[in-house]
Amino acid sequence: MFGKDVEIPFLDKKIETAPREEIERIQLAGLKNQIKAALRTDFYRKKYKDLGITEDTVSTLDDIRKLPFTTKNDLRDAYPFGLLAVPKDDVVRLHASSGTTGAATVIYLTQKDLDMAADTMARSLRAAGCSRQDILQNMMTYGLFTGGLGLHYGAEKLGMMVVPTSSGNTIRQIKFMKDFGTTVVHATPSYLLHLHAAIEESGSLRSDFKLRKAIAGAEPHSEELRRKIERTLGIEVYNNYGMSEMNGPGPAIECVFRNGMHIWEDRYIAEIIDPETLEPVPEGETGELVLTILCRDAMPLIRYRTRDLTRFITEPCECGRTHRKIARLTGRTDDMLIINGVNVFPSQIEEVLLRTKGVGANYFIIVDKNGVLDKLTVQVEITPEMFADDSRLINALRDRLRSEMAALITINPVVEIKQPGSLPVSEGKAKRVDDRRPKD
Ligand code: AMP
Ligand code: ZN
Repeated sequence: MFGKDVEIPFLDKKIETAPREEIERIQLAGLKNQIKAALRTDFYRKKYKDLGITEDTVSTLDDIRKLPFTTKNDLRDAYPFGLLAVPKDDVVRLHASSGTTGAATVIYLTQKDLDMAADTMARSLRAAGCSRQDILQNMMTYGLFTGGLGLHYGAEKLGMMVVPTSSGNTIRQIKFMKDFGTTVVHATPSYLLHLHAAIEESGSLRSDFKLRKAIAGAEPHSEELRRKIERTLGIEVYNNYGMSEMNGPGPAIECVFRNGMHIWEDRYIAEIIDPETLEPVPEGETGELVLTILCRDAMPLIRYRTRDLTRFITEPCECGRTHRKIARLTGRTDDMLIINGVNVFPSQIEEVLLRTKGVGANYFIIVDKNGVLDKLTVQVEITPEMFADDSRLINALRDRLRSEMAALITINPVVEIKQPGSLPVSEGKAKRVDDRRPKD
């Protein structure tokens, strides 16, 4: 597609194609800076003091292995401001990981951090071939979740015209796509499939649309699914990886060759470890991605265990970028479910069940497809007393569970009430989740 004579899009070609030594020099300086920032936070100060860690602990990049990992649990322990490295007055934005409330994982940013995040995102969008001539319809939820606002600011920074429709309301999405001549959409892969079905249903023609690209992320998807979306919508789909802990959707994206995601190594240090031994895996083998963010003042995160499984792609990319690529994610090491792009831990569902009177001993979670979208069903055993009671009370219990879960996880589950003792009891470790979504 991109022959020698076709120009490959860059936002900052110098840094995107910088020699490895230069990238590594930036990384080492950045890491030392982040250690200094970390020592200004309550959380790391305590942890690092016990271990005697200072910026002088690292004199080469390999010395990063002398630093302990940071986990999602650490983020919860540090809730709400234990990881703040600047005066609170300098913070201009707060985000939180989708689907989690209570002890959520919170991210704070200064104005400079926001500018850096927008710049990283702009670089990603440009690498995916977007430009100021494009009209981007952002179909990701705006709010605490970084997918909406994070991409929005990057797209504006690149000079794209942004239509911030947020998620849902597919009829209106389609109308706006036609009326405004949307050329790029940002959505979850499952929503893109849904969008395609809705476009078919609306009787619209391909010629009604100017759409040429989709930036797809926030949930795992296979190469086959990508191809299917590309085929059905007649567009190019770019895999885009990020997470709120790392400023949202900017850290890694596919370039126009669409074969693995470049991770911006002047702003992130990426390691891939064996989640059991915690040692680095041999280059090119699959393991857990560990990220250190280098471009944030308000909140350092050093050696953060993402729980995401991937591998480095060892072959150089045809685009000429020197920043390494990671392969499409193959899963997670923990039990976090991603349902229509929203992170859900089974423990959150359990939390609602445990605090509700009338709920019995056992429950079961089923994740399935309803058409192209994900569907969450929670089967709940009730107590014998409740079961003997009036059906109106049982219906009220169902409604209450549904609304409390929806409030906690931001997804509307189907709640099925079950007779006491009717759900299978497993011997040994309880199996409480059945993810029936096809792995394509
Ligand atoms: P959040 O913090 O809500 O943005 O969720 C971040 C998580 O979403 C990541 O840790 C991944 O598990 C998942 N995720 C984000 N982008 C992708 C992607 N392109 N492919 C697979 N999973 C993704
Ligand atoms: Zn490339």
